[in-house]
Order: sequence, then C-alpha cells, then structure tokens
Amino acid sequence: MKNIAIGGFFHESNTFNPIITSQEDFLVYCGAEIYDNSEAYLQARGIIEFFKDKPDCRLLPLVFARAVPNGVVDKTLYLRLKEKFFQLLDEMPQPDIFVLALHGSMRVQELGSAETDLLAEIKFRYPSIPIISGLDMHATITDKMLQFTTAMVGYKTAPHLDALETGYHAAQMAYQIISEGHALCMGAVKIPCLIAGEKSETDYPPMRGLIAELHKLEEHDEICAASYLLGFPWADAEENGVTALVVTKGDQQLADSSARYLAQKFLAVRQNFGFSSPAFAPQDALRLALQETCKPVFVSDSGDNPTAGSTADNTTLISLLSGELAELARTRKILVAGIYDPVAVVAGKDRLNQVISLDVGGRFDTQYCRPLTLVGKPLKLVADFGLHKASLLLFRTDEFDLIITSKHIGFTGIQMFEALEIDYLYIDLIVVKLGYLTEDFKAIAAKSYLALSQGCTDEVLSRLAYSRAYDLV
Ligand SMILES: [Zn+2]
Repeated sequence: MKNIAIGGFFHESNTFNPIITSQEDFLVYCGAEIYDNSEAYLQARGIIEFFKDKPDCRLLPLVFARAVPNGVVDKTLYLRLKEKFFQLLDEMPQPDIFVLALHGSMRVQELGSAETDLLAEIKFRYPSIPIISGLDMHATITDKMLQFTTAMVGYKTAPHLDALETGYHAAQMAYQIISEGHALCMGAVKIPCLIAGEKSETDYPPMRGLIAELHKLEEHDEICAASYLLGFPWADAEENGVTALVVTKGDQQLADSSARYLAQKFLAVRQNFGFSSPAFAPQDALRLALQETCKPVFVSDSGDNPTAGSTADNTTLISLLSGELAELARTRKILVAGIYDPVAVVAGKDRLNQVISLDVGGRFDTQYCRPLTLVGKPLKLVADFGLHKASLLLFRTDEFDLIITSKHIGFTGIQMFEALEIDYLYIDLIVVKLGYLTEDFKAIAAKSYLALSQGCTDEVLSRLAYSRAYDLV
C-alpha cells in the first residue's frame, strides 16, 4: 500500500491591493473534510478522483485552504494553516509521495511566496519524498520551487476550466513514480515577461497556438507534462514572469530541450498578444456600450477585477454613469455587478424601499478612486449567498441598479442575478468587475467591451509601479 499525502493552498495575491487576506476570506478543509467539499476545490477533486480506483494507494488528506484572489495573505493565518498541515501529517503514516493542489502565486506578509515556503518545509522534513504539484496557469515559478518539486503541471485554459483535469494530471504523474517506477524530471526556462491577464485568453491567438504546442509535446511517450506558467502580472514579486516547463519520464536532456523549444515558441509570438474584446478608456467603453441596440451588452471594469485580486470597490465606472454619462444612462436599463462594501450593506439593509443617501466604495482602493455618495433605494437583500456566504444588497438609483456585497467575492456568474431575481436578459448594459467574460456571461452577452480602468488589476501594466524591470505585454 502506498501512502499519498494530499493538500493544497490556493490564493492569487495581488500586491497592489492594500487588503490583507485573512481568516474570514478562506475556505479551509482539514483531513477528510475535503471529500465532502471538493466541489469548492476542483484541483483537489481531480487528485481524489484519480486515486479512487487505485486499490494499491491510500490518501492522507491534510489541509486544503483557498480564498478569492485579494491582497497578500496574513502571515499569522498562513503559519497557522501550515502548522495544521504538518500536525495532521505527524498523525498519519509515513507518506510515499506528496500530491499538492497549489496556485503558485500566493504571497504572505513578510514571507513572500507561500508555495516556496511550504515546499521548503516539506523538503526539510521529508528530504527523500517526491513532491508533485498542480498549479494555476498564473503560477510564479521560483528557483526553489523547481528545486523542491519533482514534477509540476499547470492549467491549460484561461478562463480556467481545467482545474479538475490538472489535479488529475498531477496525480497521474505521482502514480507514474510510485507504481510504475519512473524517475520523473523537469526542464524549465524562465522568460522575464509579464502579460496582462486579459491578453492571454486561450481561445484566441497567440495563446491558442501556444497551448496546442503543449498538447503536441504531451503526445510524446516520454513526456508527462508540458506547461506555460505565466506568472501573475499584478504582483510586484521577485522571480515573476513566464516559465516554460516540461516533465519527462527521467530524460533530463529531453526535458531541457523541450522547455527551450517552448520558450522559443513563446518569444516568437511575443509581439502578438492583444485583448480579445474591444478595449477602450472607461468613458468610451461605457458610451459605446450605451449606444448599442442589442442586449445585454457587457462592460468589464477590468482595472478592478476581484478574480485577479483587486479591491472590488473602485467607483470609477459608477461615477461616470451617475456623472457625465447620467443623461444617457437614464434612457437604458443598467445593472452594475457589483461593488464590495460591507459598511454600505449594513447601512442599507434595514432601510429597504426607502430613499436614502448611501456612501459606497473607495474604502480599500484609496489610490485610484474616491467613495461615492449615491441617492436611491435599497430594493432587496439576499443573505448567505454562495460558498463565502455573502450578503447581497440590490440598490437602485436613477441611473442604474447596483449589487453591493458584504464579502470580497468574484462577479462571475448568473447565480448572483438569479438570487436577486434580476431579469438579466432584459437589461441593456451589465457592468461587471471582471476581465474577459466567464462562460456564464459569454453565453448571454450580445456584445462585450473591456473598460481599461485604473486600479489594482490595471490591464495597462506600464501604469503600475513595479520595482523590478520586466518586459511588459
Ligand atoms: Zn489564473
């Protein structure tokens, strides 16, 4: 019987966001809890599914912790989670291998890369036990991560639809080591380049072609995995950038030459990255969208995208809709989804259907916007929405309906609209704090624009203050 220790920390930490990601932001599953909650952690589910019909393997579940992307993670919290991880491990039989479901760009106050820290500690305690990891496509690969792990594989889709498959793939590589006796090895080439998130959608060139190269390499009998880990553009972090990474069944030369091949392919298309939706300054994107006759038209407030770790409380777009574009806005049905403001939710929730003056936004993002005072009516409150149990307050002004959330969550699907009983198909303009649209939104969008707003996830990377030199795409 082989003992497979499994666990994972998953967070994308945006260093431009002043919020410290804390306990209340995390979903944490310890030990066997992951089996009943794996829909909240699909990479973990992939690992579990792979091993469920392997009678020669026994899983040792440790800690799985994940949070919506946000600012860097509270150090005390991280150390507590790590302590729990090793405490559970101490209570279990000696593992034969570790299979981890990581993000790769989680950062902790004062410590930096969480993955590097975690892997270093595992390696210190279990120097001869191999570690395999699945990663998000936006993982930041440090030299130490390469040193401490035997094999890594990243997502191949953006938007990310293959978390489960990536977990499964990582588990498969672990099995190749423990049951089939292969001594896997990795080759990696780093490229000091950062790509704005919305320029790397995998349904569009050049990423589509680059991903096809990965699949082609993985058809090779001796190659176990090929990945482009893109780094995370909204972190001013050491060793950030793109990594081309290849895992083979022990052929180091093949791993190295294949990684070099992938790096060359990447550099050959370096000039071709662009936005997949029409992208404009915020006022132009909104004006164009408001003039469309089809519906619903989406505008992404891309500079304040919580799924890439922004504050989600930037007021730039609602300031435009209630200011210079107000006259035009009043002729359309507009939904803004949404804004993160726990104080505004508390202030509005007991005054349903009363006309009130409400200060919203700008509490966390104090650099790119100001709080905005809106006059309108709180229409509806929904409690305990989604995995993070957020309260949603629907607030109506003369220009738009606004969803205000009590928790820092993503605006990624129609469930939020359904929870608030919004007839979203009859809305002319839906403003979302997002980058490229999710599958849910793509399915209903008549058209979409990217508003190049300024914030913690500014798509115009040259406007951000990096302390290191990168080739910015
Ligand atoms: Zn990602």
